[in-house]
Amino acid sequence: MAKKALVLGAGGFIGHHMVRRLKKEGFWVRGVDLKYPEFSEVEADEFVIGDLRDPHLVEKVIDQKFDEIYQFAADMGGAGYVFTGDNDAAIMHNSALINLNVLETCRKTGNKRIFFSSSACIYPKYNQEDPDNPNCAEDSAYPAMPDSEYGWEKLFSERLYLAYHRNYGMEVRIARYHNIFGPEGSWNDGREKAPAALCRKVAVAKLKGLDYIEIWGDGKQTRTFLYIDECLEGTVRLMRSDWTGPVNIGSEEMVTINQLAEMIMEIAGVKLKIKHVPGPQGVRGRKSDNRLIFRKLGWKPSMPLRKGLEITYRWIEEQVRKAIKEGEL
Ligand code: NAD
Repeated sequence: MAKKALVLGAGGFIGHHMVRRLKKEGFWVRGVDLKYPEFSEVEADEFVIGDLRDPHLVEKVIDQKFDEIYQFAADMGGAGYVFTGDNDAAIMHNSALINLNVLETCRKTGNKRIFFSSSACIYPKYNQEDPDNPNCAEDSAYPAMPDSEYGWEKLFSERLYLAYHRNYGMEVRIARYHNIFGPEGSWNDGREKAPAALCRKVAVAKLKGLDYIEIWGDGKQTRTFLYIDECLEGTVRLMRSDWTGPVNIGSEEMVTINQLAEMIMEIAGVKLKIKHVPGPQGVRGRKSDNRLIFRKLGWKPSMPLRKGLEITYRWIEEQVRKAIKEGEL
């Protein structure tokens, strides 16, 4: 009998890639989301369109024992969605409801093992003001001071999962993802993150013959970006380990946003001017600290940023080409 997995948020970027990975491993997979994956066919054996804020829907989709449950569903997006403040209430309300419903139903149905995707956005702002020396060690999360309501909701939900672990013996697994990127993610819907947004801007400039791109802020803020395949690898390793977390899953290769843009231009084979314009930016510096994951799992991400960007840029340039042809860009 094939092992069974449930992927919540299976229509989204990471969820869809996870379904694909689990199918390759021979799992029977049920996916759930508000929407189908946008850029390629469903690969799950069953795909339920439904709203996980609704407890009845959650009871319908968690109606049996699964070997692995991955909870990726959240109201989320890049800086343009999370840091403007306009979506704060929706982000907190929607994502908290999903996690409350899912955990309670897992408890009632005896589904003990569940993975929760938390975020580097839980780390306190005061440790991320120096772009050269951000502190994102797991134990630096408290005293808490995330710089967005998205981060506060993730922190609340981490605590909720940990409380279910302590009080009901649930085998929760918690990762704090740091900027995951790759093909088939948001690139032009207002929820895209820096790598996809910059790939799009460079591709548009290249294909339309412009000589500049715009970057929000001074571009001197630092980040690390992790390619999707390594995110999945870390996630399944954590899921199948005997350790709860929370743990960072991210890269240690830190670049400024300006350097990221330059790297993408090199990949695209163009040299463009950078215009700095006002826009939401987030903290000044953020970098995954991988000491704990390596100590606990004997593994940490190692793929160079450039390699993942090459694959992602090619995919986004293709999307931009199609959109221009269809008059959408
Ligand atoms: P995504 O937005 O592509 O996927 C989330 C999916 O959840 C979407 O398909 C969305 O439709 C679905 N969803 C939202 N509300 C729902 C609801 N009420 N019912 C059913 N489905 C619902 O995001 P992603 O990049 O794939 O991220 C997956 C998870 O990882 C999220 O929890 C996110 O917060 C976390 N995370 C991602 C990153 C990253 O860089 N991508 C970083 C840190 C944490």
